[in-house]
Amino acid sequence: MKQNIQREVSGSGIAVLTFDRPNSAANIFDERTLEELNEHLDFLESEKGLNGLVIRSAKPKIFIAGADLNSFTQDTRAERIAMAVERGQKTFDRIGRLPYPTVATIHGVALGGGFEVALACDYRVASSDSATKVGLPETNLGLLPAWGGSTRLPKLIGLPNALEAILTGRQYAAKQALKIGMVDAVAHPQRMAEVAAKMIQESRGKKRSCKLHIANRSPLSKIVKSQVEKKTLAKTRGHYPAPLKALEVACASLTVSHEQSLANEKNYLVELALTETTQNLIGIFFLQERAKKLRLPADVQPVADAPAKTIKKALVVGAGLMGAGIAQWLSSRGIRILLKDIGPAPLGKGMQSIAKIYREAVKRHLFSEVDAQNAYDRIVPIYEEVPLREVDLVMEAAVENLELKQQIFASLESSVSPGTILASNTSALSIDALAASLAHPERVVGIHFFNPVHRMQLVEIVRGTKTDGPTLTAALRFVKDIGKLPVLVRDSPGFLVNRILLPYMIEAVRLFAEGHRVEKIDRVMLDFGMPMGPLRLTDEVGLDVSEHVAKDLVQRVKHLPPPDETIEKMMDKAWLGRKSGKGFYDYSSGEKEKINPQLSGFQPAEPAVVNEGDLRDRLVLLMVNEAARTLEEKVVDAPEDADFGMIMGTGWAPFRGGPLRFADHLGVPTVVSRLNNLRDRVGAYFEPCSLLADMATRGGSFYPGKKTGLPPLPETKS
Ligand code: NAD
Repeated sequence: MKQNIQREVSGSGIAVLTFDRPNSAANIFDERTLEELNEHLDFLESEKGLNGLVIRSAKPKIFIAGADLNSFTQDTRAERIAMAVERGQKTFDRIGRLPYPTVATIHGVALGGGFEVALACDYRVASSDSATKVGLPETNLGLLPAWGGSTRLPKLIGLPNALEAILTGRQYAAKQALKIGMVDAVAHPQRMAEVAAKMIQESRGKKRSCKLHIANRSPLSKIVKSQVEKKTLAKTRGHYPAPLKALEVACASLTVSHEQSLANEKNYLVELALTETTQNLIGIFFLQERAKKLRLPADVQPVADAPAKTIKKALVVGAGLMGAGIAQWLSSRGIRILLKDIGPAPLGKGMQSIAKIYREAVKRHLFSEVDAQNAYDRIVPIYEEVPLREVDLVMEAAVENLELKQQIFASLESSVSPGTILASNTSALSIDALAASLAHPERVVGIHFFNPVHRMQLVEIVRGTKTDGPTLTAALRFVKDIGKLPVLVRDSPGFLVNRILLPYMIEAVRLFAEGHRVEKIDRVMLDFGMPMGPLRLTDEVGLDVSEHVAKDLVQRVKHLPPPDETIEKMMDKAWLGRKSGKGFYDYSSGEKEKINPQLSGFQPAEPAVVNEGDLRDRLVLLMVNEAARTLEEKVVDAPEDADFGMIMGTGWAPFRGGPLRFADHLGVPTVVSRLNNLRDRVGAYFEPCSLLADMATRGGSFYPGKKTGLPPLPETKS
């Protein structure tokens, strides 16, 4: 059987361990790999005449991606998790104790355990390739670096930088990592071996001694700790325990023995791993992996043998917010773009915003200047008719207007070649209606990106009733090829994410109109774990846009809460949200939390009596009900799709695992009884859907067999 790690020893006595997991693009630390590493360490510890060790990877884009997360989810007995942690710690300590200098040459991604093994070495050389990223993202999964990372990093780079790395889980490009000392050198991939050999030679057999960092000593370290603690508490609102535990361990590592610090890492990790929060966060990681491997369902007509073609050239119609964003992303992925709009002015604006995204990406070391310029040059702005026969895909992102989009598709159908995929980025219009008047409606598909395109990973692939197998296969391949995460949805009003999100935004405005204060409504949802309150979100989306989409949705989905007149009246005052300087908040002074002082005329004189549980239930359970409906109506096939879509598309309280996972947590009968109560007290639109009602009667759940253990939310008073 081919091994995960190969060993060679050079003539100059330098041993090289090469990680190269068979039949995989990635190296990971699973049990077998750790076992092999220990076997090599038996040799490295006993062999005479060795002068140094180099650890490297043979993969083109990955050094070592991290620990195998299955070991924290499949067997959740505390003893098993503790054993897995100890095994990694002991193995890496053996590397740390080797009597000669050790170097990790990092080309590609080195995250979590993959970076911790490098931290156990004396030196780290990173490749200058843009694929190279180092970091400790464990706290994002509700864990902490427990294979020595929380112990070694503060000593290496000083407490403030180490806390920044560990508590944010940030990934550092090679140059940034060099700047703060996470790596010691950056070299061209082909020169890394040479640089490593030189480091070993120049250290003349000596191990590296750690630099003293002034911020690691009391009283400075105590001040750093208390400042970071305050900041973390404000950011996490108490929902995410991992950063606080990591903070404890990293700070304590400066005053306790190495062994005690490793024991702290282990004990806290075991405690964290068993919480529902962590299981949900790791669950999101697996949902992302699931999306990367997404296949089309069995009912899609099989495609003839030929694999879907790669998209090399695309026409993007509309150079507005979304069209420009899409053109930028596709060009960064090597696709040549024709960017079309109605005249030079919108095109100029679009190209400027594309240039801005590239400039910022260069600043953040995501692209070299040359790569960014080359990618930008792949976009050709046009406003006149040009031959379109060579275009593989059309991405339509013109204004949200059915007739206009129908016209655009009708004229395109005759000018592109028969194999071109016709995709629309519509937020909510029917794909069937867009395709209705075409000779070949089977070529039309929704490929719905989210704003901002370069940040949001989710893409809804919308399947119209006529969309055929080859079109869907090509759309799916395209979305995966450009590095986005697909969710497959059926054509229905609002598709998945907007269908669930819009009713929540409408309800927030209704609550406001009943007399609840803006800050209260938004704070209740921030406390629940949403990244932004619903009224702030309405301001960000734009009052005009959200009103337009809401009205369209409510017209087509009869059971939804009707929007009241508030937004229209606000629009009459030219308040459109952030873009106009005023909405529910006032942006004119630059003060972030300033509520629009002229809102009193939109609310009753007497403020509403506040019951936070009630506010939260009205907002959250409406989304839960709608998420269940997307399953009931087969908009999506599995609860995972709805939860994944909401977390990735809206930032829905990740630690709660999504609206349907949250329904399981509350208990479906509780969800149904609270919805019934709201229906009787507030409005018919809270009527629980049949799926929920049936499930409550049968005693079912969305994720049978999964335990839930988050502390319960306070009861609602009726
Ligand atoms: P936008 O108003 O910023 O841009 C639309 C662009 O289309 C304008 O530049 C306009 O000049 C151009 N246009 C109009 N008619 C055209 C034609 N016949 N040919 C070529 N270009 C034409 O709108 P946007 O926010 O970018 O939205 C575009 C699409 O994406 C809409 O369908 C919208 O629903 C959808 N969408 C928007 C968002 C969002 O957050 N804004 C998110 C997802 C999807």
